[in-house]
This record gives sequence, structure tokens and C-alpha cells, in this order.
Amino acid sequence: MTGNTMEPERRARRGRAQALPRALWTVSLALLVFIVLAVGLALLPGERPSYEDSAGWNLRLVNRWNPIPEGYTVNLRELPGGEKVDERVYESLMEMLEAAKEGNWGEAPRVISGYRTEEEQRGFYDDKVNEYLAQGYSEEGAKAEAVKWVAVPGTSEHQLGLAVDLEGETYDVFFWLQENSYKYGFIFRYPGDKTDLTGTAEEVWHYRYVGAKAAKEMHERGLCLEEYLGQ
Ligand SMILES: [Zn+2]
Repeated sequence: MTGNTMEPERRARRGRAQALPRALWTVSLALLVFIVLAVGLALLPGERPSYEDSAGWNLRLVNRWNPIPEGYTVNLRELPGGEKVDERVYESLMEMLEAAKEGNWGEAPRVISGYRTEEEQRGFYDDKVNEYLAQGYSEEGAKAEAVKWVAVPGTSEHQLGLAVDLEGETYDVFFWLQENSYKYGFIFRYPGDKTDLTGTAEEVWHYRYVGAKAAKEMHERGLCLEEYLGQ
């Protein structure tokens, strides 16, 4: 009869003995999963932060694939001649225009287009589309041609207040700018050999502020803004 009384006790002991390793096993497994995840996340190379997390206002990318954010606001400052730019780039721009006199027969180049509102950009865009329609293009064809020259409203850097279109006394001023604008934080934004990346045909007159550090690096390495930002 002793066997009958011993039996449940032994079972209970065996049960406790099995429960302990099971708990250990569960904790170890959880720990292992945690370690693998932590190490994996730390080593993951592809997860670089987006440019918006790492870059400042001066590096904001606006192109046909990256529209200007809804409700983007800018504090403007008026330039001689009436155009306006983001007040943060005013001084650098004025310095560049002054220095550019040496490449422009002693005259400072003029800013013929600075900041644009969405409505103004729409006006430019519609005019360009109408130009192509008048040449006999279809609606779709006219839009496809127009967008090579004028950004669709919401996708123009001019709406940031960080871009200017310049006009000089001589075409040579554009060569001067290509060589020197980076010193003032501006880049030749749409070179002819980068149109696939920028989505815009060559515009020798369009300059974009990105800041002196980024401009210098882009100039030295021959990168457009899309390349610099890894887009
Ligand atoms: Zn422009």
C-alpha cells in the first residue's frame, strides 16, 4: 500500500523538476530572441534615416517626385529689384551677386525670379502648357513638354524661397557662377548631365541655396542634390 501513497508524491516531485527547466528554457529563448533582434537592428546597414530626419531646412528636397510639404511657410526678405527670398539666404545671395560682378562686366547679376506662391507657379506652368498646345501638341504631350521646363505647382524649389533665377549682362556669368557659387552656399541645380536624376532640363540660370558645407561637397564631388541626399 505504500506504493499507492508514494506515487502522487513522486509525480509531484517529477512535475516540479520538469517545470523548472521549462521556465528556464522560456526565459533563455526570450533572451536569445531579444539579443538577436538588438544585434540585428544595430547592424542593419540599409536603415539609414531619411534626409528629412538628418538634413536641415537648407537641404529640403523639392522636385517632381518630392512635393513641397502642405502648409510650408517661409519668412521672406525683399531683394533689390523686388523679388523675394527666404530671409535666411539673403546675405549669402547678396554676397554672391556682388562677387559675380567680376564675371558680369562689372554688374551684379539680377534676380529675375525668387520666391513664388503656388498660384504664381501655376500661372507659369499653365502658360508653358498653352505654349505647347499652340504648337499643336496634345494635352498630354503639352504637359509632358512643359514639365521639362516649368515645375508642376507644388514641386518647384521657388516655392521654398531658396532658389533664384539669375540674369546677367553676358552668358559668361553663368560659367563664373558654376565655378564660384558654392563659396556662397549656392549650387548650379540643374546641370545638363543630371537631368535623369533631377527631373529637370538644364537651367543655367537657376541657383539653389543648400548651405556652404553641402555646396562645397557637391561642387567637389560633382553631385546634384538628389545624389548628395542619396535619393
Ligand atoms: Zn528657377
